[in-house]
Amino acid sequence: MKFASSAQVEALAQMKTHPYQATSFYLNTDKSQQTLKAINAAYKGLLNQARLELEARDLSREVRKSLLDDLDRIAQFCTNRLNAWKSPGLAVFSCSARNIWQELELPHGPRNRLIQDFDFYTRPLSAILEKFKRLCAFLVNRREACWYEIHMGDIRLLDSLTSDVPKKVKKGGFEGYESKRIERHIDALLLEHFKKAAQRTFDILKQNSFDWLFLGCDDQFYPQLEPLFHTYVKDKLKGRIKARPGTEASRVLQECLELEDRLKREEEASLVKTLVAELERGGQAVAGLADTLRKLNSYEVRHLIITHNFSKPGRVCPGCHGLFLNDETCPACKVKTEPVADVVDEAIEIALSKNIPLTQVSSPTRLEHYGNIGALLKFKPQK
Ligand SMILES: [Zn+2]
Repeated sequence: MKFASSAQVEALAQMKTHPYQATSFYLNTDKSQQTLKAINAAYKGLLNQARLELEARDLSREVRKSLLDDLDRIAQFCTNRLNAWKSPGLAVFSCSARNIWQELELPHGPRNRLIQDFDFYTRPLSAILEKFKRLCAFLVNRREACWYEIHMGDIRLLDSLTSDVPKKVKKGGFEGYESKRIERHIDALLLEHFKKAAQRTFDILKQNSFDWLFLGCDDQFYPQLEPLFHTYVKDKLKGRIKARPGTEASRVLQECLELEDRLKREEEASLVKTLVAELERGGQAVAGLADTLRKLNSYEVRHLIITHNFSKPGRVCPGCHGLFLNDETCPACKVKTEPVADVVDEAIEIALSKNIPLTQVSSPTRLEHYGNIGALLKFKPQK
């Protein structure tokens, strides 16, 4: 099943597995960034690790059996399906004793992980929902207009309209005053068509919570159309596309996704630029894993910025859940810290749970020269 809405997240969150436990499995299956061999190695590693952890846990025979069955089923699924798997991400939720099994095709590669706990772990799904913009494509020519919704890699026709605007009068067909009168009449009909389309665009944007609007129209019409847009529409308008009414939906989708990607990369680059400028003038920013974790621990982070898929082992304090790169002892609690496989992942969890804005930027990025992680801070760091 395709992952497409918050309703799916809520349904999973409400599934009860008690007295058994839930297995949640996330795998980055993006074949444009890694080989199938690497993907296979990653899932086998996760399953082996999970089996080891399961051995060490104190569980009843039935609960353990259900969790082991989940792992076997996931192994089976991966062996049979990964070869032909097309989505960049896979998520599986399973509780064998309760007969729960759900696989989701994800539109974006998640961090690899396998979690066995009391409930299904859905935070990465929420993160994907947040990452994807809700796009509206508005295509218009002199007679037709149509609107598409594009979300999570899918496209859907929302609405369309056709107005009866005749073609321009050919020269020589009419003479003098009569010809001018007909031309003015056609111009008025065209303006009426654009007004209707602009109003419908406003209504559609208001009804659906779209982030961005993309417009497909001929250059000659743009100066007529643009002044008809409500300010609300103008604010959402982020770019022009080549598609027109009548363009195949799959091509509209492809063009919109390419533009979305380009705009997102520009946003990321501008955020990294702000971070670097702050760092260089000794302002409200920090970079590098150890320092960024320290600021996260002391609640000073305003915006966390990480190179996508950057990961590093580290340590966590069992008392205050503070995160550290190397510290063996928590400076606040004076207790021994425990190792974690990926401290960056823990930092992401904290940002998500505390509603700290988090941006994961795609490589290559200038952030790689600054330790792949940094943060904009609430205050200027103390010297
Ligand atoms: Zn502590």
